[in-house]
Amino acid sequence: MKFIFEVCNLEHPNAKENTVVWLLFEAGDSHYNTTVALENYAQVGHSLNGHKWNKYTIEVVMCGDYEYETKMYGLSGAAGKHFCLWCNIDKDLAKEPLSERGKQCPRTVEDIIQFNNSFVAAGARLKDASKYFNCVHQPMLMIPISQVCPPALHLSLGIFLKLFNLLESYCIPLDVQMYLQIHKNTPDSNSQPATQVRADFNTYLALAVEIASLKDTMAKIDEELLDIDGQMISSMLDDQQESDSPQTSTDMNWLQAAKCEKQRELQTLQTKITTKQKSLPSETGYIIQAIDMTLQSINVKRQAYHGKSFIGNHVDTCLKPKNINKICATVVNCVQSMCPSLIDMAHEIHDLFEPLLLKFSRCHSLYSVSRPLSPSEISEFGK
Ligand SMILES: [Zn+2]
Repeated sequence: MKFIFEVCNLEHPNAKENTVVWLLFEAGDSHYNTTVALENYAQVGHSLNGHKWNKYTIEVVMCGDYEYETKMYGLSGAAGKHFCLWCNIDKDLAKEPLSERGKQCPRTVEDIIQFNNSFVAAGARLKDASKYFNCVHQPMLMIPISQVCPPALHLSLGIFLKLFNLLESYCIPLDVQMYLQIHKNTPDSNSQPATQVRADFNTYLALAVEIASLKDTMAKIDEELLDIDGQMISSMLDDQQESDSPQTSTDMNWLQAAKCEKQRELQTLQTKITTKQKSLPSETGYIIQAIDMTLQSINVKRQAYHGKSFIGNHVDTCLKPKNINKICATVVNCVQSMCPSLIDMAHEIHDLFEPLLLKFSRCHSLYSVSRPLSPSEISEFGK
């Protein structure tokens, strides 16, 4: 865990000479560890904010990845029902377009303190967190929430992965069609009935998505368990509280039961996916493979063990307009060379994703700057 100050209004705020490490703590950034680390520093940001130095007034802004930012303000994280640090919106409403749902009530540090007090008064049961807008802890910093920076890089990582997976999911049915076309006149001993291959493919895909999200949930539960473990150890050491206080042990039991259940689900899914994988013809996935080759040609590698995610530099590379053109052209070129009769479908995918990715690329370069955005830049996001 490392906390640093950077002077923002300089050309290179990330440069060594503009950066001061003010707290270093050799441990993971769980809630408990962070509370201990910040015990004597919680007021640092608060008292600096608005402080006068010569003719300058200091404004403290907070940056970090999203999980960290929500943790610093006592929220239960990105997976909670009220996941947003800046407002009280709930998960379901967030799916509606802004024009229909309108802007939601902004969060304030004071609100979080109050909701958390009510949460604790009602027994601090994690499963009831959403009733208190997911305010499961007191905020650790008193910097106004309007001065927390949205984590641009993490937004880009997440959105790009979503769009890329969406592109792949559009290519899979076309891949299956190609397989069927190519084998129409030359049925070999391995070729399977069309409907069966298609159905197997869809099931396989749905299973893969389910497994990825389950693994995600399990990692979060592990983190929470670790946190409660830390709290129990600390109360034993402090002797302020019985180590097996009803609240922590109820939470612990609840989380452990939830984890066991997820583990069982994961095992069932994993058995299912292995069976499905075996029943699929091995050569399907021409376009997906071609896209992989294109990525390799621009030196981008997906992280196989992290849900095939990308790293920041690679997202930056993929979002260069000329590389977006390359990736999207791969779909058309692959179908053109292997199965020209399906070229219309390839063009449809190309014409859907190229403009979408180019638009996102524009947003990415607009917000990936180390300075405040101008009003005209902000209004460009709505276009
Ligand atoms: Zn919000």
